[in-house]
Amino acid sequence: MPGSPAPTRTPAHDRAGVSGADPAIARSLIRWFRATARDLPWRDRPLGTRRDPYRVLVSELMLQQTQASRVAERFDRFLERFPTVGDLAAADEAEVLALWSGLGYYRRARLLHGAARAIVGAHAGHFPDRAATLAGLPGVGRYTAGAVASLSFLERTPAVDANVLRVILRLEGRELSPSDPRATALCWARAGSLHEAAPRARETPSLLNEALIELGAVVCTPRSPRCGGCPIAEHCRARASGAQGRIPARKGAAVRARLYFASVLVRDGRGRLAVERRPDTGLWAGLYQAPTVERVDRMSTPAEVRRRLGLPGGRGTLSRVGGFDFQTTHRACRFEVFEASRPAGAPGGWRFLSKGAIAELGLSSPQRRILLGDS
Ligand code: SF4
Repeated sequence: MPGSPAPTRTPAHDRAGVSGADPAIARSLIRWFRATARDLPWRDRPLGTRRDPYRVLVSELMLQQTQASRVAERFDRFLERFPTVGDLAAADEAEVLALWSGLGYYRRARLLHGAARAIVGAHAGHFPDRAATLAGLPGVGRYTAGAVASLSFLERTPAVDANVLRVILRLEGRELSPSDPRATALCWARAGSLHEAAPRARETPSLLNEALIELGAVVCTPRSPRCGGCPIAEHCRARASGAQGRIPARKGAAVRARLYFASVLVRDGRGRLAVERRPDTGLWAGLYQAPTVERVDRMSTPAEVRRRLGLPGGRGTLSRVGGFDFQTTHRACRFEVFEASRPAGAPGGWRFLSKGAIAELGLSSPQRRILLGDS
């Protein structure tokens, strides 16, 4: 790990009008976090200790849009296979995707892989130790850069994720949507001013950022915040005015594009299932699936499925065995699942694998359900 950096100050242009309450708020948050922090696989003890930046980077990318409980199930396995940034950089993408299985949003896995390669290639294996430099790595935005810099290098810099944004908007009593640029500017500035006002102890940047993130995750939750157990309740404007439920303001309902998938379970003589790899770009790029026909306007008919996949015709050769809906951030997907007899010559690109082997592949959540019965 690089040498210990000197403490830095938050840039003046990022500062909000510092509230007179900020020193007390920062102290309360840190005291509360020391007393109540959850045990998580990526959270080292004692709290505030400089953490391995590679472990922080992996956990932060896994935690984006994925629940901590789900990450906790997979974090150790990923680190066992790729214990160092060099191991990850040297790995095949297919294996990285396979180890990411179940976490969703596979683009993050590719970006993490790219970041590891950039650290090994452009930085000679040394992690950048400043948020400004970290933010140049693939997949490392302002929040992740702040998290790694503060948790691993104790840089006095904020890290504002969706949890912190919600806490600060409520603290300030501002009914803004998270996607409103004014909300982003306000929350980064106020988080910066909290760092300015916080105790000067070496571990403060790490503790304060984690305290804010933890508060949003377990107390100041999106619905039904537990204000009675909140360490900064006396300073919270949303609580004083009863506006917690209106903050953050809701975005307009997202209009999701519809997609229709007809996936077919095809077995060979040994009971192994056919899988194919999705294209390298687009939704679930490069992941594996049961042979599938995809449309944007409507579900394919059985005749179309037969024709597109080269399946045998005739009564009883293609039968529907189920269906379900699945939503991604931007798409509403309908899956119909069929079973079919094996075609005489399996189409190019198909592989017949046991369920055990399929479980080791990179699979989207709906395909895990179709091929492995995981829900
Ligand atoms: S008092 Fe309630 S709304 Fe305000 S920060 Fe605490 S939990 Fe959130």
